[in-house]
Amino acid sequence: MSQQKIKDAIANKKMICPSCSKPITQYAKYAETIDAVRDGFNVIEIDSNASRVTLTCGNPGCDWTERTEYWIEYIID
Ligand SMILES: [Zn+2]
Repeated sequence: MSQQKIKDAIANKKMICPSCSKPITQYAKYAETIDAVRDGFNVIEIDSNASRVTLTCGNPGCDWTERTEYWIEYIID
């Protein structure tokens, strides 16, 4: 799930603010695009890779915030 990816990236300080280059500390989900719903054998799978989130840097002296579905670009390895 993409939400878990975002959570992990923030917890591991791997989501980086493009403004101050410090780890982003907050996110809020504002929309989710459902790419695929499969209903077979009573199992419904929802692929939600296209979550849109509001990212907020949250570091002192930085007020960067952005709504994006391309949050993956802010994650470093
Ligand atoms: Zn920042």
